[in-house]
Amino acid sequence: MSDTILDTVILGSGCAGLTAAIYAARANLKPLVIEGHEPGGQLSITTLVENFPGWPEGIQGPQLIENMKQQAARFGAEFRMGHLSTVDLSKRPFTLRIGADTIHTRTLIIASGASARWLGLPSEQALIGHGVSSCATCDGFFFSGKEIAVVGGGDSAMEEAIFLTRFATKVTLLHRREQFRASRIMLERAMAHPKIAFMTNTAVEEVLSAEHKEVTGLRLRNTLTQMESTLPISGLFLGIGHIPNAKMFEGQIDLDSDGYVKTHDFVFTRVPGAFACGDVQDRRYRQAITAAGTGCMAALEVEKYLEEHGH
Ligand code: NAP
Repeated sequence: MSDTILDTVILGSGCAGLTAAIYAARANLKPLVIEGHEPGGQLSITTLVENFPGWPEGIQGPQLIENMKQQAARFGAEFRMGHLSTVDLSKRPFTLRIGADTIHTRTLIIASGASARWLGLPSEQALIGHGVSSCATCDGFFFSGKEIAVVGGGDSAMEEAIFLTRFATKVTLLHRREQFRASRIMLERAMAHPKIAFMTNTAVEEVLSAEHKEVTGLRLRNTLTQMESTLPISGLFLGIGHIPNAKMFEGQIDLDSDGYVKTHDFVFTRVPGAFACGDVQDRRYRQAITAAGTGCMAALEVEKYLEEHGH
């Protein structure tokens, strides 16, 4: 693969990357899509998507992603799994190291998305996969008949809490403040649910019991009174947002203080020929439809760039 120079490589196979792939493939650019450690991105670990236009009854996130992938493949997009270890955007063509392979490409679409944020407590990290999870749709089933907790005050936390009521007997939603970031409709749905209890102004101090390799409860602190308490539960789900997957571009393109790729005119990075789309560059909207929109823009800009600079 090292002798060939590709027209475009798309890093990421979520909503943004796959939309870019559909457009680039239809423009006959034969895009190579690199699927990382979370293929399909965040939609592939969600449930019903009710606000993607064109699906009046909603569509399951994984199905939506699968449809997009088939659509891109139909026009000639190629896919490979791999982890980007290094990237050099200082010379043309760009050079990417993916596993043992070196790939050269004239243009790059960065659609590497964002990954789940963790609290960062040692006890939490020790219990990931042993009762601590950031993916309700992946792990909810393991908590049938149990009492669990969800941390967060945004739409993700509400969605997870509602979904987890399918399995758990009780879901306690823990939020560090009084005010919620969640949209009104999601918050009201969660608040009206008989299986969901809310605890606000509450921070998780420790997940019990790391020494037994299972979750038995949480040590909590009231953020107003500083009083500590214990909540017995069997599982903890994090719904506290995401961190952009852009660290590997540090020093080569501009990142903001939270690590999001800085773009101008929607999808342009400061390196000509390198574009970014989707959640890796969007800290404001972060919706499937906006990710798809910027994915489309990035592919159209790649087309224009190649027309001007040659294939
Ligand atoms: P978010 O809106 O950024 O909310 C993250 C929540 O986690 C906030 O309430 C935040 O608390 C809390 N948090 C962050 N770090 C924390 C920490 N270290 N300890 C405790 N709490 C912490 O993220 P999101 O809920 O993932 O939503 C992201 C975007 O996706 C939003 O635009 C949302 O509307 C969208 N979304 C939509 C749907 C849907 O419509 N079905 C579903 C999921 C997500 P503070 O409020 O105190 O900062």
